[in-house]
Amino acid sequence: MSTAQGRLRIAIQKSGRLADRSLDLIRDAGLKWVKGHNELLYRVENYPIDLIRVRDDDIPTFVADGVCDLGIVGENVLEEGRNGGPNAEVVMPLGFGRCTLKLATLPGIDWQGPQSLQGQRIATSYPNILKRYLAGEGVKADVVLMRGAVEVAPRMKLATGICDLVSTGATLEANGLVARDTVFESQAVLIKSPTPPEAELADLLDSIMERMSGVIASSGAKYVMMNAPRSALDDIIAILPGAGSPTIMPLAGRDDAVALHAVCQEAVFWETLEKLKAVGASAILVLPIEKMM
Ligand code: ATP
Ligand code: MG
Repeated sequence: MSTAQGRLRIAIQKSGRLADRSLDLIRDAGLKWVKGHNELLYRVENYPIDLIRVRDDDIPTFVADGVCDLGIVGENVLEEGRNGGPNAEVVMPLGFGRCTLKLATLPGIDWQGPQSLQGQRIATSYPNILKRYLAGEGVKADVVLMRGAVEVAPRMKLATGICDLVSTGATLEANGLVARDTVFESQAVLIKSPTPPEAELADLLDSIMERMSGVIASSGAKYVMMNAPRSALDDIIAILPGAGSPTIMPLAGRDDAVALHAVCQEAVFWETLEKLKAVGASAILVLPIEKMM
């Protein structure tokens, strides 16, 4: 496969934890497709773009090799696959698929940090990340690769510790394990090929990346409007989360008060509204933002 057929390619996970959110992001960026008979490929109808649906493990290689122009993958998978060859470039973090690679052991161990695993055996599906971490911590341990069911290794006496992905911790708990130190924090990222696309697709590629960045920036962002006494403006601006410079407009027939509009980049909680009210704001409205550029 190569992109030399007049269409961009975006690699996404076919099914699994990142699949739905990846498609949501692509849809919110304005791309439309019909699910065809082709399981591997969704053809975008309104742009020359194909969505290539694969195992997440294959995404970094496809993008690094220029088989796909963009990809959506967990940082953990990207980091595990890093080698001396050409690598995919991270365009931006996407804010979903958050998880943590953690060391875990049975409770009986007197945990003094990763050095407690000195000379021990550690089972993991992420040997490269783990080895880099252990080297950084000055710990020599026997890292064994397990492709799945890593969490059973300590009970089976296959290993003293494991290094596995954790999001809620329920799987560890169910297996009687205690989470210890954090090895790697991960979330889904947009990655881009080091090989540029055909010249006539370059603008489309830039526009898709910019739209995705707009989708990420506006998710959670709110448009906030209120009336406020002029004297309280400094207090109000300090209270609004991630608001930058708000727009201030006169109110007809009122010299002492203004209307204030602001885009807040962070969540606006009830507590924030209560604080705004306490310094004199009134008629406070919080609106969702659909698109932002
Ligand atoms: P594939 O069939 O595509 O290889 P997989 O089984 O390797 O799928 P999933 O379990 O779907 O992968 O997880 C995909 C990604 O989701 C992980 O690599 C990680 O970045 C992220 N993730 C988020 N939370 C968790 C979690 N609790 N456990 C595992 N992965 C998680
Ligand atoms: Mg996988």
